[in-house]
Amino acid sequence: MSSLQDISAFIIDMDGVLYRGSTMVPGAAEFIAFLREQGKKFLLLTNNSSRTPVQYVEKLARMGIEIDEGRIFTSAQATALYLRQKAKPGTRVYVIGMDGIREALTAEGFVLSEDSKVDFVVVGMDTTVTYEKLKKAALAIRAGAKFIGTNPDKTLPTEEGLVPGNGAILAAIQTATDVEPLIIGKPQKPIFEIALARLQSRPEETAVIGDRLETDILGGLQAGLKTILVLSGATDKDLLESSEVQPDWVFESVKELLERMRGEA
Ligand SMILES: [Mg+2]
Repeated sequence: MSSLQDISAFIIDMDGVLYRGSTMVPGAAEFIAFLREQGKKFLLLTNNSSRTPVQYVEKLARMGIEIDEGRIFTSAQATALYLRQKAKPGTRVYVIGMDGIREALTAEGFVLSEDSKVDFVVVGMDTTVTYEKLKKAALAIRAGAKFIGTNPDKTLPTEEGLVPGNGAILAAIQTATDVEPLIIGKPQKPIFEIALARLQSRPEETAVIGDRLETDILGGLQAGLKTILVLSGATDKDLLESSEVQPDWVFESVKELLERMRGEA
């Protein structure tokens, strides 16, 4: 197995890695500071499409982590960039989701519509999801709109425990329409390809750090990256042992990862 020292770039998940809810994971700020000291490249890549990059900058700042907006890449941005390749500006979209996906789609020239005459139904994490929203999405998909999901995460790690994630919202609409969504975020390849291009890094010298096997680790493996699982979020040892998806390295949290990297440096 190669050494962590050979890794020059990191694609770092946020929920369950740097924080849970609004509580920082111990060691997260020190880990980011260490990457800077060592001149490592890094990008914070989240499957959560609810916030804008600026909102993430603010959230991280409240926890004492100073990050430039350009270091944040969300599944909302990836979804908008992907759809921009498929459709003209002015294309109408029905959205279930929050600021992150709404702003990203608007920035790429899409028109957010409240009726069922749309080309796409885009579904991201929405903490104010209602039956009415699910109904509109289902009717639009039945009327021919393409069903797009920003990310498949079934749950979100919070201080209260694992709460329903976007995958749960997608499942409700899939059940109501018998249509499977096209997912853009992790574990799909495009989001990793865009991240690598932003980092100007090759897959073999880049590691993904994440807390979720079926998105972060599976996606990293499929994109040819090195993979580091932290057990500070959605995955515990039992889940890891029973999974076919196995990372290159496992640490309790970024604190332990930092200790190992300090030891090797
Ligand atoms: Mg996560």
